[in-house]
Amino acid sequence: EAITVSELARKMNLKASSLITKLMSMGMMVTINQQIDADTATILAEEFGCKVNVVSLYDETVIEKEQDSEDSLRGRAPVVTIMGHVDHGKTKLLDAIRSANVAEGEFGGITQHIGAYQVNLPQGKITFLDTPGHEAFTLMRARGAQVTDIVVLVVAANDGVMPQTVEAINHAKEAKVPIIVAINKIDLPEANPDRVKQQLSDYGLLPEDWGGSTLFCEVSALKRKGINELLETILLQAELLELKTNYDCRAEGRVLESKIDHGRGSVATVLVQRGTLKIGDPFVAGVYSGKVRAMFDDHGKRVDKAEPSTPVEILGCDGVPEAGDPFQVTENEKLARQVSVKRQELKKLEESKNVKKITLDNLYDSIQDGEILELKVIIKADVHGSAEAIKTALEKLSTREIRLSAIHAAAGAVNESDVRLASASNAIIIAFNVRPTNQASVLAEKEKVEIRKYNIIYDVVDDIKAAMEGMLSPDI
Ligand code: GDP
Repeated sequence: EAITVSELARKMNLKASSLITKLMSMGMMVTINQQIDADTATILAEEFGCKVNVVSLYDETVIEKEQDSEDSLRGRAPVVTIMGHVDHGKTKLLDAIRSANVAEGEFGGITQHIGAYQVNLPQGKITFLDTPGHEAFTLMRARGAQVTDIVVLVVAANDGVMPQTVEAINHAKEAKVPIIVAINKIDLPEANPDRVKQQLSDYGLLPEDWGGSTLFCEVSALKRKGINELLETILLQAELLELKTNYDCRAEGRVLESKIDHGRGSVATVLVQRGTLKIGDPFVAGVYSGKVRAMFDDHGKRVDKAEPSTPVEILGCDGVPEAGDPFQVTENEKLARQVSVKRQELKKLEESKNVKKITLDNLYDSIQDGEILELKVIIKADVHGSAEAIKTALEKLSTREIRLSAIHAAAGAVNESDVRLASASNAIIIAFNVRPTNQASVLAEKEKVEIRKYNIIYDVVDDIKAAMEGMLSPDI
């Protein structure tokens, strides 16, 4: 097992010349195309304070996709995630939408919770992901799964914009997913929708009659008012997105959730994103494989096929894949099994190594190699004023070669949501006079996200500036 110096440099996000210099100081004269053995490569990587991620599970086991023909593309339903501050009515709204659409007597009016559901309107269908909030949204993104087309941001009309409202806005913006605002609880006497609009305009969400382009709806999830208008608004937004896909090819999508069910074995909810899934199809889901034995829709009704944007529960997987894992139908069962075996091997390997995300220490080299043009930071501070001050100071550091952008700045401890956003966006977290929560520390360790702690603003600016100038020596 050997690797060339240039290849290793690329994998470490470093210039080959830095590696050659280091090897020279270790008494080895090598050229850029020369091979070095695995042990030397490992020692070298450790010298630079980082581990090499040699394999990527899915990069190395790509299943060939079927091509689209010109006439195979047809419109598909939008996939919607509901976000917003705690207690602003996300769950209630999901319930109101769901029950507004279930005709009495239809399958007993019962809906199953399978992680997503679809509503049918005369104008079209809409798929709702059943796990509200930006945590699930960003967790999926961190796994490389972008399933949401539209975010509905719920803001309670009596409470206004709150910290998690801002988090949700930033998470959606970072994912480049359009936001529709649902001002909820308008049944309350103290409801003040105009104040909400005023507050949201500070975050770039302006209604059309104020010269902006964000769609707003006023609803009461409790009294089930305005629900139809909201659904129509979602379809309007979807039309602008021109969502189209192939209906005729082998199905692919993402796992939304999965579990072991007593008596039924592995049960996975899959959101089909392309193609049509059928009974008997062999597939790979994450590191597992299987054959579709049975499928159920969001009413628990048996179905024999699932088209794009449809969530279905499937039986027949030989393991329990994780939320966000890619799902793909293969040409035959043998290929599905082979890919699954290979992925399980690779996964073991990945777990034994550290997957490298960006850190300050190798930032300069990344810029030199033209690999990143933007350094993203998330700022958490003890008070709002400090977070804003740091944000302003850092953004001033932007140069022609590298843009510094604070994708989220807020008061409070570094939480899991921050770490997930950092992981999904390859950002660094700056903790100013605050500490990460225990869960956030554990997650940061796992996701290889860097959290840098400071208590003097000048130090933050200095460090980031130094890193940008390539003067920060690696802390070995
Ligand atoms: P979530 O944390 O965002 O999922 O919020 P919930 O859906 O659990 O709602 C929080 C609380 O607000 C519950 O007590 C709901 O009954 C109440 N609530 C939700 N929507 C409305 C509404 O439109 N009007 C009123 N008055 N209360 C609501």
